[in-house]
Amino acid sequence: MVKVYGLQPYYNVAKADDLVGRLVVGLAPHTSVGILGRIIGFTSLNVCYAHPVWHSAKRRDCDGDEDALMLALDTLINFSREYLPAQIGGIMDAPLLLIPVVNTKEVQRQAHDVDVAASYSAEFYEKTWEGVESKDVSSLIDIVEYRLGTEAQFEGFGYTTPVSDINLGNPESVYKRFKTMIEKLNSQLELAEKIKAVDAQEVALKVLTTHFIKDIAGNLRAFSTQAFRCKSCNRHFRRLPLRGKCPSCGGPLTLTVYRGGIEKYLEAAQRLVEKYNLPKYYSQRILLMKEEINTLFESKKPKQVSLTEFA
Ligand SMILES: [Zn+2]
Repeated sequence: MVKVYGLQPYYNVAKADDLVGRLVVGLAPHTSVGILGRIIGFTSLNVCYAHPVWHSAKRRDCDGDEDALMLALDTLINFSREYLPAQIGGIMDAPLLLIPVVNTKEVQRQAHDVDVAASYSAEFYEKTWEGVESKDVSSLIDIVEYRLGTEAQFEGFGYTTPVSDINLGNPESVYKRFKTMIEKLNSQLELAEKIKAVDAQEVALKVLTTHFIKDIAGNLRAFSTQAFRCKSCNRHFRRLPLRGKCPSCGGPLTLTVYRGGIEKYLEAAQRLVEKYNLPKYYSQRILLMKEEINTLFESKKPKQVSLTEFA
């Protein structure tokens, strides 16, 4: 503001507290849409506390991925199409659209399901003994859904576990502490095995079908339709240039999808099937993918066979 535009500084922030009341734009990874919010305080935990509807509008269900938080003016004056990265993935992480007002009815169901009751009735506890479906007793609990369209959708939320300090929780999501997907998975399954209400086998099957098999099959497909990249200038080519090197800088060319990338989760997928005794269909599915990978990569050099070998 001062150096480029010759104006007065806008925020004039000297200490963190000066930011309270300021507008911010929240942006979740790969969504392209920033949501307007307001800073109302700070926590010493490595989390962002906010209204469930706000988190949901960002398309975040608190699954451990990180959000960006930008001062509203920063988002406006430092945005330019000229700054956007060339790759589509980078563009998805820029606030191309801004939502100033969130329609509470249009956010994801998870935000509507948030329990804001100050107490549970005896009837609810009795129903738990009967093992009834949660959707059949949800009317006994005060959830955000029943408050939609009224002022109560924003305020007056209750809770049943009082705390003396909002900062007493877990300082950091374990999801963030683990570096690799495999570590995250093992931890998730370890937890699933401990919780009586969770069927670890079901969790394993879900991870296998929604993540691993999709990932491996997707990368396998990507390999055969892949592009080529110049190692020096990073230009991408849909087909291998006939000259065998980069036409713009002469640099060496390389593949964009590697064998390692395809096989990354193959071992883990197989272990999952064995450990949790998952249906045979899945072990066969993995075996087929393994064979396909081998056919793709193990170049069979034509071997000269001597006639005498058939004798
Ligand atoms: Zn090049």
